[in-house]
Amino acid sequence: MGKLFNELKQDILYQHGMNACLNCGVCTAVCPAAEFNDYSPREVMNIVQSEDDELIEELLKSDKIWYCGQCFSCKTRCPRGNSVASVILALRRLAIHYGYFAESEKGRQQLIAKRVFGENMLKRGYTLLAQNISPSHFPELGENWEYYYDHMREMREWWGVPMDLENSPGSHRMIPEQDMEEVRTIYQKTGAVSLMDAVEKGMEKKLGSKAEVEKYWQTWLETGDSRNYEIK
Ligand code: SF4
Ligand code: SF4
Repeated sequence: MGKLFNELKQDILYQHGMNACLNCGVCTAVCPAAEFNDYSPREVMNIVQSEDDELIEELLKSDKIWYCGQCFSCKTRCPRGNSVASVILALRRLAIHYGYFAESEKGRQQLIAKRVFGENMLKRGYTLLAQNISPSHFPELGENWEYYYDHMREMREWWGVPMDLENSPGSHRMIPEQDMEEVRTIYQKTGAVSLMDAVEKGMEKKLGSKAEVEKYWQTWLETGDSRNYEIK
């Protein structure tokens, strides 16, 4: 048992999620993420249960821990009452804390999650703003959305629901500053802000400089796909 496993088992999400795994594979059979990706919740539990730091480190550096969609189907079916979803969250926290997340493509996408969902939450109390739903990232929304995206401000004026109003509907609404202070305090106290900082630092370490991190970010903004950034 090494440092990584020791730290993992201190995590309350791990303690709630792992009650000893039979390796029966029921979780993998019901997992929607396993249907489409090289991912098996049974395999994740098996690696974690081995308490082998080398295997755990390999897992933390891989895409696998980022495929889970947190649907909790595995929890409701597991004969031991395990929650792979919770164990996955504990693994993700560890991967970000030690910078291992930046070794995999799916892990590196945490920069996008941090800069979009995380920063939106701290600024506006909302994970995804209409301004973020660009047609290049969401082509499936089609022409109507393209039109709305390009004419958002005037269309909302026309509907009588201008942008950025307190109590206005949907992702344009402004949340009262007092409530925003509470959100920021929760993020601070639960360690979410330090994880967000660790994402920036881990990416800088992996890509070599802040300028390269910005290039990665710009690549995603402009092309809608971070895989277009070439890792040197
Ligand atoms: S269903 Fe439960 S016991 Fe079976 S492999 Fe998955 S986590 Fe382990
Ligand atoms: S919570 Fe994750 S591991 Fe469990 S079934 Fe859903 S996608 Fe699969």
